[in-house]
Amino acid sequence: MKVFYSETHRAHNPTIEIFEGGKNVPYLETPERVDRILASLQDLAWIDLTEPDASSSIGIQAIHDKSYITFLETAWREWMETNPAETDMTKITPLLPATFALRSQSSLPKTILGKAGYYMMDLSACLVEGTYPAAMSAANCAVSAAQATFKSLKNSFALCRPPGHHAGLDFAGGYCFINNAAAAAHWFSERGRTAVLDIDYHAGNGTQDIFYDREDVLTISIHADPAYEYPYFAGYPEEIGSGQGQNYHRNFPLPKGVDDSLYLFALDNALIRIREHRPQYLVVSLGLDIYRGDPLGKFNITRSGIGKIGKRIADLAVPTCVIMEGGYAISDLGDNLITFLENFK
Ligand SMILES: [Zn+2]
Repeated sequence: MKVFYSETHRAHNPTIEIFEGGKNVPYLETPERVDRILASLQDLAWIDLTEPDASSSIGIQAIHDKSYITFLETAWREWMETNPAETDMTKITPLLPATFALRSQSSLPKTILGKAGYYMMDLSACLVEGTYPAAMSAANCAVSAAQATFKSLKNSFALCRPPGHHAGLDFAGGYCFINNAAAAAHWFSERGRTAVLDIDYHAGNGTQDIFYDREDVLTISIHADPAYEYPYFAGYPEEIGSGQGQNYHRNFPLPKGVDDSLYLFALDNALIRIREHRPQYLVVSLGLDIYRGDPLGKFNITRSGIGKIGKRIADLAVPTCVIMEGGYAISDLGDNLITFLENFK
């Protein structure tokens, strides 16, 4: 299996994030996540680790607003220019706004902190000097994987970091800046019927936002009920798409403590909708924070359950591009990933 990976992710390494209750904590979405995965993958004969090569055709302007991309590209420079006191490298903290836009009432401000509050939905999408190149390299991995799957009709895996599924048309959030799965799905959609299945523990609100009015990409997310869990403001069952995209989005919110059998029941329902869509290509947003040991998750899914989830998705027998999203139980991350991916060999 081709696995697309770029070292550029290391440039994105924020020091802190802010948790609920105003707790200032070390950034949880670390380069070490990827190191643990690489350590597990490197000895496997069926893994073909490959540099991404889609840079000329990533096409992120098709999934993100142009002004938002410009913001990501220029924000750090602007932040440093307006805060010269922060240019002592020992003191640098991420660009994080403290005031957020209520979009229905908001116009786009001119200052960097105003723009950050407009384009960021929370205090975990911490932007640092290397964030934009790292996010672009992750999107490059995703589109390269889609291209490899298109050419070979074989499944592929994009080891993306930072993750992408919380990044919407014009906003960052939840460790995500550019939506890698959406980039792969959009690339596929120009070549055939496409579906995205998001099984990260958290609702794929960014992917939902990007494809909400499109019928050419079916998007489905199975996740912790936003009534009790991040991202709180999207992921409810009544959100089914709009306009041309009506009935082309489905959310499957689940209660705390979900076990393997209840999860597989929801997955089977999601797979029925995917089969109806008859996709030629499938993108899976794989978040291993569904695992019962995950520090950000509240599900009770076992490693064996992760294997069964992978098996049922692979049984669709649709050429599939698996995209890495979340997963923070880092000592188990490699084994959980292999257990899932083995179904797609
Ligand atoms: Zn997640």
